[in-house]
Amino acid sequence: MPRVKSVWAVVAALALFATQAWGQAMAIPEEFRDMVTTDLGNGVYTFGNFSRRSVFLVTDAGVIATDPVSTGFAAAYRKAIAAVTPLPVKYVVYSHQHWDHASGGAVFKQEGATFISHEKCLAHFDAHPNPAVVRPDKTVNGDDAVQLGKRQLRLFYYGVNHGDCMLVMQADGSDMLYVNDLVTPFSIGLGFMPDYDPAGWIDSLKRMEARNDWSRLVGGHGIPGAPRAAMTERRRFLEAVMASVKKDFDAGKPLDEIIKTTDLPEFKSIRGYDAQIGRAAERMYHYFEMGW
Ligand SMILES: [Zn+2]
Repeated sequence: MPRVKSVWAVVAALALFATQAWGQAMAIPEEFRDMVTTDLGNGVYTFGNFSRRSVFLVTDAGVIATDPVSTGFAAAYRKAIAAVTPLPVKYVVYSHQHWDHASGGAVFKQEGATFISHEKCLAHFDAHPNPAVVRPDKTVNGDDAVQLGKRQLRLFYYGVNHGDCMLVMQADGSDMLYVNDLVTPFSIGLGFMPDYDPAGWIDSLKRMEARNDWSRLVGGHGIPGAPRAAMTERRRFLEAVMASVKKDFDAGKPLDEIIKTTDLPEFKSIRGYDAQIGRAAERMYHYFEMGW
């Protein structure tokens, strides 16, 4: 079948060209050179290291990438995807609007990818423009899915939690949930974040915990896959900080004292506890004091 053979020869040549082009398009900055691709099974991969990572789904018709993170990261990320498949990146889905995950998408835009986010992210992108952030071409306003070839990346919207436009993702046929920033496995995470909603965050985690169609999770930071227990730990930590601060707040304890004295022995061994517990207490204080 010479005709078929020649078609595949062209595909192979294009793939080689694409791989070389991505490799040469931008020198990969030193800080991204130790990043690796981990196969999470059934077409789902994660690329990055402990400090930053993203997730992509390889289908028969191309790739659905998620958060490009930054310009330097995205250059390394694109090269890593090319090492897995010669197929183009057709979609980029933002988990949420924070610049430490949504920046750097130009390399994917240049190859024609369609960018997707929750519609509430647009107000943030418009209010705080950042030239490194590619504005989404399409938005969703609730649970949805991106179909590419025979595969689907399911998008779940749980409302206000870590900001108001977070999408949790899961590929069809995969037990791996991509949960950016709502859980960083075995880490405390940033305690004070102006746009996070403590009660909404706990509620979102509870609703995810109630689902039995996933057994592992991967975040935008941390290890390349973690058991469900990582989510439960994060939810229990948030509940514990809230309960402790509420008790002190109701007793009239001043903010400075609450920041200094909030102490949760059960969670002390978690990475980042010492640096973040005071900030988390301060965030909860404002929640009870001003309702934000
Ligand atoms: Zn974030």
